[in-house]
Amino acid sequence: MNTKVYLDNAATTPVEEEVIQVMVDALRLNYGNPSSTHSRGQEAKSLIEGVRRQVADYLRVQPNEIIFTSCGTESNNLIIKSCVTHLGVERFISSPMEHKCVAEAVRDAKVRKGCEVVYLRPNKDGDLSLEQIEEALKSSDKKTLVSLMHANNEIGNLLDIEKVGELCKKYGAYFHSDTVQTVGHLDLDFSKINIDFASCSAHKFHGPKGIGFAFIRKSTKLKPIILGGAQERELRAGTENVAGIVGLGKALEMCMDNLSDYAGHMQKIKSYTIEKLKAAIPGIKFNGQSENSEKSLYTVLSALLPFKNPLIGLQLDMKGIAISQGSACSSGAAKPSMVMMMILDDEALESCTPLRISFSHHTTTEDIDYFVQALQDICKENQER
Ligand code: PLP
Repeated sequence: MNTKVYLDNAATTPVEEEVIQVMVDALRLNYGNPSSTHSRGQEAKSLIEGVRRQVADYLRVQPNEIIFTSCGTESNNLIIKSCVTHLGVERFISSPMEHKCVAEAVRDAKVRKGCEVVYLRPNKDGDLSLEQIEEALKSSDKKTLVSLMHANNEIGNLLDIEKVGELCKKYGAYFHSDTVQTVGHLDLDFSKINIDFASCSAHKFHGPKGIGFAFIRKSTKLKPIILGGAQERELRAGTENVAGIVGLGKALEMCMDNLSDYAGHMQKIKSYTIEKLKAAIPGIKFNGQSENSEKSLYTVLSALLPFKNPLIGLQLDMKGIAISQGSACSSGAAKPSMVMMMILDDEALESCTPLRISFSHHTTTEDIDYFVQALQDICKENQER
């Protein structure tokens, strides 16, 4: 069955045609090694530096604070590992709702490096209270890294990173936020936020896979984890992915040039989906802050279907709809995700099915109508069984 409707944009987004075009041009023409001193190399180098300036302008930071990496996972690992190895971090404040790449890097710091980890407890809506964060910050003098994601990839809950940054400043802690789901979708002004580290992945905003960046505040003096040449201000060795960087730049430019249109469109599509689902599936609920446009990222809607069906993703796929139950990296897992375990009670975990619907500016109301009809048909089949 060919995919007719794509509703898995939190896992990855389709690459824009314009992005493919600039990447093909870069692959064909700008093949020089950016570290080579001849013109061919320097052309490639200047393309990279152009994108670095563009990203820095978007975040209102210095270009030398942007380090290109291979993905969000690498950026988060670089930050967390280097904080322990080079900055003397011996304590983490994090949450069980983090993406696996942060959760595993923090767990590794605990198991192999003996770091203390304070896991904050989200409430039933998936939110972390500022009081809880402050309590954890004030309870130790150890050098601490607070690592909390900006938008949750499964339920879309947004964290007030401005307020968390203020708390980190007050208590002298480093602040890292995994911004993989928000770069390209929100206007991020790091000149106004006390944030030391952030991460990005181009494939979440219509760029290519295999390219991302880490924002590393210069004053932190972070050191590299991958050793070798002097690329990326000596913070990430390895010949740069020139075409990927150019693609990231084009994708970011397109998202920023159209930010309010795209955001407005997705907000409308999300509200439309909520209304349609409520009308079609009695008893449906929405997880976390999914329904609250102020507290949830507009790209993600996490539904809770009032019946148990672990095969729902497969059945929708057979009807031509690409969608995930939760995070794509955990979608093969038989047990509920950590996020669902934190916010749902035992009864809901036993008898309901989470479904993550995630949008892009390409999503249409026709896509949603098709999806809701297919889901309704599956629900009926479910009841008849
Ligand atoms: N962090 C979050 C919140 C994500 O959603 C993802 C991707 O699913 C990642 C990190 C990992 O990014 P990448 O796929 O670029 O490694």
